[in-house]
Amino acid sequence: MRNPAHPELFAVGDAAALTVPKLGGLGHQQAQIVARQIAIDVGALAPGDAGPEYEPEILCFGDIGGHQGFYIYSDTWYGGHTSVFKMGHAPYAMKLAFKEMYFRTGGKPPAFGVPASHLLMDHFPGE
Ligand SMILES: Cc1cc2nc3c(=O)[nH]c(=O)nc-3n(C[C@H](O)[C@H](O)[C@H](O)COP(=O)(O)OP(=O)(O)OC[C@H]3O[C@@H](n4cnc5c(N)ncnc54)[C@H](O)[C@@H]3O)c2cc1C
Repeated sequence: MRNPAHPELFAVGDAAALTVPKLGGLGHQQAQIVARQIAIDVGALAPGDAGPEYEPEILCFGDIGGHQGFYIYSDTWYGGHTSVFKMGHAPYAMKLAFKEMYFRTGGKPPAFGVPASHLLMDHFPGE
């Protein structure tokens, strides 16, 4: 995520070539990595404290109308074997909850959001 010509510059989120597809969750993960890289650069963290590597996965809720939504959890684009797709009222409720939480927290959703999504949706039978 460093600019090769200017290593003091980083790109995260939709502006980064690494972000495929353009999803907020990927930018969030990249921002955490870049924050640690900057902290290492300025001596606030030791080089061994780089934290977890970039492990992209698609985690997406969408509204499809009629009070229904979809949920996608997949890492097959990145060489993994997980591919979950659910539709129904529950994914729609999760999308509403995410938007509510997102705006209430000023765009800083809490860390439990991703594990809570997996817990609630990965074993949901669908409708
Ligand atoms: C309808 C829709 C549904 C989505 N659903 C999901 C989903 O379910 N899950 C998911 O993970 N992602 C989803 N996304 C994608 C997600 O919203 C984006 O990937 C994420 O918001 C990108 O964040 P970002 O900070 O990289 O870029 P942005 O949010 O685009 O932020 C860039 C900011 O830079 C500002 N800016 C631009 N030019 C300049 C300039 N010259 N000077 C100063 N500021 C500037 C812009 O105004 C903007 O505020 C969805 C997107 C859309 C549109």
